[in-house]
Amino acid sequence: MIAILRIGHRPFRDKRITTHVALVARAFGADKIFVDTRDTKLESTILSVVDRFGGDFKIETGVDWKKVIKNWNGVKIHLTMYGLPLDHVIPEIKKHREVLIIVGSEKVPAELFELADYNIAVGNQPHSEVAAVALFLDRYLEGKWAERVFDGKVKIVPSEKGKKVISK
Ligand code: SAM
Repeated sequence: MIAILRIGHRPFRDKRITTHVALVARAFGADKIFVDTRDTKLESTILSVVDRFGGDFKIETGVDWKKVIKNWNGVKIHLTMYGLPLDHVIPEIKKHREVLIIVGSEKVPAELFELADYNIAVGNQPHSEVAAVALFLDRYLEGKWAERVFDGKVKIVPSEKGKKVISK
C-alpha cells in the first residue's frame, strides 16, 4: 500500500495543484491520497478519472493529518527540500511495503519533521510537491509503475500522431 498525505490544502488556491498531486500519485503507482481539508469537488474530479481510466485509486479528504500519521502502520516519509538526499535513503525505504508519503503546500508545521520517520529531499532546491511525488514514486517502484494495467472504460493507444482512444 502506497498512500500520499497532502497537508495544507486550500480548496480555492490549491485546486489545480492538489488535483495534480492526486493524478500523479495514481498514474505513478500510489493506491490512495489523503487530503487534510474537506473538498468534495476534488474528490469527484479524481473519482471521475478513476471511473473512466480505471484502477482502484482512493481519495479521502477532510482527514486529521496527525491521526493519519499516527495510525499509519508502515513507514512515514516527509518530502522536503531540507531532508536527506533521495538516492541515499531509497535503498532503506525499499525494504518497506506500507509507505505514507507526506507533502505540504506552503510552510509545513515544524512538528512534521519529528513525526516522520524520514525527511527526504528530491534535490535540495525548492520546487513542487507534484515533481517530488513523481520522482519519489519512480525511484521507489524502480520505474515499474509504467507496467501497471488500469483496465478502464477508456484506453489510450499510443500513436505517433493524433489521438487514438478505445472506449469499452
Ligand atoms: N517553502 C515551503 C516549505 O518551507 O516547506 C515549500 C513549499 S513547496 C511549494 C510545497 C511542497 O513541495 C513541500 O511541502 C514539499 O513537500 C515539496 N517539495 C518542494 N521542494 C521539494 C524538494 N526539493 N524535495 C522534496 N520535496 C519538495
